[in-house]
Amino acid sequence: FNEIPTGLPEPGKTTVYDESQTIDLESVPLNGGILVKTLVLSIDPYLRGRMRDASIKSYSPAFTIGEPLSNYGVGLVLRSEHASFKAGDHVYGSHPFQQYFVAAPADAEKLTVLKNEEGLQWSVYVGVCGMPGQTAHHAWREYSQAKPGETVFVTAGAGPVGATVIQIAKQQGLKVIASAGSEEKVAFIKSLGADVAFNYKTERTRDVLARAGPIDIYWDNVGGETLEAAIDAAAVGARFIECGMISAYNGEEPYHVKNLMLIVGKQLKISGFIVMWLHEKHLAHFYETFPLLVKEGKIKYTEDATHGLERAGHAIVDVQTGRNKGKSVIIVSED
Ligand code: NDP
Repeated sequence: FNEIPTGLPEPGKTTVYDESQTIDLESVPLNGGILVKTLVLSIDPYLRGRMRDASIKSYSPAFTIGEPLSNYGVGLVLRSEHASFKAGDHVYGSHPFQQYFVAAPADAEKLTVLKNEEGLQWSVYVGVCGMPGQTAHHAWREYSQAKPGETVFVTAGAGPVGATVIQIAKQQGLKVIASAGSEEKVAFIKSLGADVAFNYKTERTRDVLARAGPIDIYWDNVGGETLEAAIDAAAVGARFIECGMISAYNGEEPYHVKNLMLIVGKQLKISGFIVMWLHEKHLAHFYETFPLLVKEGKIKYTEDATHGLERAGHAIVDVQTGRNKGKSVIIVSED
């Protein structure tokens, strides 16, 4: 991480690829920890929020200038001095953006050993079977109060969170309205079973919701003017699951939602959340069900794989601007 961006992050400026440091894999001291080879790194929208001044507090730590970025990843343990890990284990959790790294004992203990009895490709564990899938699963269970026949509106419907929400909602017998930013993404959303799918860049969200609403649940990934349209289209007692507001992540002038008073009259329930807060209640159920559902093809996903750590800066911008087509991952190394 090289510089705090003001707008969109810029590869080569905000982030730089540095080949100057090496690790001797045979002799690097482990001091009771583990040596990990990074296989896959996840690129998520919230990474932009970590590119901030450390004095600004948030739910996730700011990146430190001069230090590697870090995020969810899957790695292969090459050497271990820790009783909970052995060479050959695959681990999931926070990885620095490095090809190899030594995790100190306390950091290693935060990693999960993946059994992967379903034989899924490892990248799935940062996508539909990782943090984005958990986001959809946990918050839907916690906040949706969904009933068959109700109508849900899902934004950023082609991404890993939105696409998973669409499928859960269809399986529970809801009518799904979903939006995305290109015709290709709209076709993918339709293939997941969405009843109404549209490109918000060519059709006004407000017009579609007026036709296809009212909505009982809004899964918000974008915020701003779209949130305003969803409040207008909400039924009395609708639930708003405030997952993200990507329209305001890159320093744009914030859009001032003008109809907040309707929250009162329509008795809306608005739930913001951070996925980690919901693990205690929902993570066990997630791992019991999701890998199998994915293996059986009952939950589908698309992946946008970038090969090579040196392309990470580009992948980060692509997720902010919608150029990613599915879950964005960096394949750092094949197994
Ligand atoms: P995606 O892979 O869907 O990537 C983000 C997408 O947002 C882009 O591909 C783009 O798709 C869309 N987008 C970008 N800018 C705008 C805009 N101005 N208006 C509308 N859409 C826009 O990401 P995820 O599925 O990983 O994440 C989706 C949301 O969930 C994000 O807001 C993220 O921050 C949030 N999230 C929240 C968590 C929590 O704990 N609360 C945990 C994980 C994710 P398009 O082409 O359709 O515009």
